[in-house]
Amino acid sequence: MPELPEVEVLVRHLAPLLEGRTIRAVQVRRAKVLTPVSIRAFTRALLGARFCGLTRRGKYLLFALRRAKRAKPRILLGHLGMTGRMYLLPAKAPLPRHAAVILNLGRESFVFEDTRYFGRLTLDLRALAKLGPEPLGPEFTVERFADALSRSAQAIKVKLLDQSLLAGVGNIYASEALFRAGIAPTLPARRLRQAQVKLLWRAIREVLSEAIACGSTVPLNYAGQGARDGLFYFGRAPGTPDYYEERLRVYDRAGRPCPRCGTVIRRRAQAARSTFYCPRCQRA
Ligand SMILES: [Zn+2]
Repeated sequence: MPELPEVEVLVRHLAPLLEGRTIRAVQVRRAKVLTPVSIRAFTRALLGARFCGLTRRGKYLLFALRRAKRAKPRILLGHLGMTGRMYLLPAKAPLPRHAAVILNLGRESFVFEDTRYFGRLTLDLRALAKLGPEPLGPEFTVERFADALSRSAQAIKVKLLDQSLLAGVGNIYASEALFRAGIAPTLPARRLRQAQVKLLWRAIREVLSEAIACGSTVPLNYAGQGARDGLFYFGRAPGTPDYYEERLRVYDRAGRPCPRCGTVIRRRAQAARSTFYCPRCQRA
């Protein structure tokens, strides 16, 4: 699943491509992704509107659209769900089978494709209100983090996935940050010591920043197939290196040696999601 870094990289990639482009036609093939907005209301709001900015909040993409020069921009909210991809395609190119929404921009179209339709492209912004601070922003302080953790009995790995604690961290970066901080994923959040909170706070920021830096060097190619393009859920041409593989230290590496101590990395289920950890490096 795409997390904060993958969405950030996609935003940086798409922003200059969309800036100033006008939506000339709207085609919705899967009404589910607009929920609860109707196809009619969606089309009415988007047709003729112009892209005037693209930013990110947590795992959401925020497309700013303006209908007239001085009009207040309207936000279109995107979420990639588990398998969503967003890219520009020549308008004449055949559409992928799972294209959910197609916005024609003239010679090119913006395509939101999602094989499982868990993603969203909607004008309903309520999901944003529930989000906690941006982990790379100034509001995410050690004090605030410590305070939130002290009030939770949940296992720290599970707590890190709570989007009201901090926005944008998912299964991959929660496992990676805990490994880096040397903290057992099963430790109840309120049992973390002050020094551990600080280590984890720093580790979260490091793993996210490094992933963004790594992703910024990857050529995004929509022509790739979705299956193992893991990193940026965008497409990777056949034969190009799998950047996803070597940059993670524990995630999806069960049975392989820990890069720090050589102990075999384990996988366990926590709240129906996989956690990967080193039983030796993450004892405390
Ligand atoms: Zn280890």
